[in-house]
Amino acid sequence: MQHRIIVLGAGYTGAIAAGRLAKRLHRDDVAITLVNAEPDFVERVRMHQVAVGQDLRPRPFTEMFADTGVQLRLAKVTAVDVDRRTVALTDANGTDELAYDTLVYALGSGWNAQGVPGTAEHAYEIASRPGALRLRERLARLDAGQTVLVVGGGLTGLEAATEIAEARPDLDVALAARGALGDWLSPKGREHLGKVFGKLGITAYEHAAVSAVAADHVATADGRAIPAAVTVWTTGFAVHPIAQATALEVTGTGQIVVDGTMRSVSHPDVYAVGDAAMAMGAGDKPLRMSCASGTPMAWQAADAIAARLTGGKLPTAHLRYFNQCISLGRKEGLIQYVTADDRAVSAVLTGRLAAAYKEMICKGAAWGVANPTLGMPTRRHRVARDRAATGSVARATA
Ligand SMILES: Cc1cc2nc3c(=O)[nH]c(=O)nc-3n(C[C@H](O)[C@H](O)[C@H](O)COP(=O)(O)OP(=O)(O)OC[C@H]3O[C@@H](n4cnc5c(N)ncnc54)[C@H](O)[C@@H]3O)c2cc1C
Repeated sequence: MQHRIIVLGAGYTGAIAAGRLAKRLHRDDVAITLVNAEPDFVERVRMHQVAVGQDLRPRPFTEMFADTGVQLRLAKVTAVDVDRRTVALTDANGTDELAYDTLVYALGSGWNAQGVPGTAEHAYEIASRPGALRLRERLARLDAGQTVLVVGGGLTGLEAATEIAEARPDLDVALAARGALGDWLSPKGREHLGKVFGKLGITAYEHAAVSAVAADHVATADGRAIPAAVTVWTTGFAVHPIAQATALEVTGTGQIVVDGTMRSVSHPDVYAVGDAAMAMGAGDKPLRMSCASGTPMAWQAADAIAARLTGGKLPTAHLRYFNQCISLGRKEGLIQYVTADDRAVSAVLTGRLAAAYKEMICKGAAWGVANPTLGMPTRRHRVARDRAATGSVARATA
């Protein structure tokens, strides 16, 4: 009997987990199904580039997963029943249900409007490809001198504001940050960011908590009105509500709570990775939603599932950070080196070298999806007989 592994979501983490499992486990012993709503891999870390009109290389899953043994299923996940161990799907043919023995939940996240009035009607988002394409179309119609306001001073906001300002020097680009601009960066990092903002002519509104969005401006909690022909909302990500509707243990924001092997703390046959999961990193701090966290989470989950199925050694890697790689347009960048728990240290890399480094990281992230064992030789292990049968893995190793 084959052990049925279903991976939900083929973003960075789900695709890596599925591919790595296929390289770790013998094809006769497992059936790996990867479910995704779209037929091609979306390089989400480049959505600000898409928004300003850059075209990305198409990456169809049929090519990426050719000859891997991973079965692709193009469908939208609508629900998960962790008691019956089933997944409900819809596709062009209607509804369907798949049964699993092990589930990897990697549905990622979308934008987070945080309930601010007017966002749904007036703001643009770049957390998804449809969102980025919508903004692209809107930016293309803007006349010189019109204002684009990016709300959110985090990594995505910085990347969006600089990308737009570089691509459209005729526009008036501004950014509203809740705190001071780049306040988590080192002094050198902040100084460089300030210089690039100055060079690109970006206005920074600091300590500006946006409390409402209208068609032509935003209002801040301290009573300011900031003009904006277009408002781009980048204040963090929110997970899809599917996990929250299950019996899985989730956080208040709907992330699945997992242990160090990315296994659900409430349901041992469920693993969660990427933005959808709440895992602890160095210093017992929750990992932030990012590829930087999600990629090692996916490796860890795949290796743990393979180990539990084959009787191998569980992975013990501690997830940590090394740097934050921020593109500031195509010609500038900022690599902020950090401690294992993501606090800035003084060292930074800036300028064209940093831009090239960031580009290499983005290319490497996509390469890592197609090469989930980082080019290491494939060693497919046999699944221990007593563990292949439905449910036995969870009970045998819980
Ligand atoms: C503009 C931008 C820049 C970024 N830059 C960086 C960066 O420089 N460094 C970094 O580390 N992180 C960056 N991030 C964050 C990073 O992109 C995410 O943390 C990462 O994509 C999360 O990976 P994931 O696999 O969890 O989810 P995703 O990449 O979001 O993948 C989820 C997948 O699930 C699919 N899916 C969702 N719902 C369903 C459903 N109901 N049914 C079927 N399929 C579904 C989606 O189509 C998608 O393929 C950036 C994000 C954005 C938006």
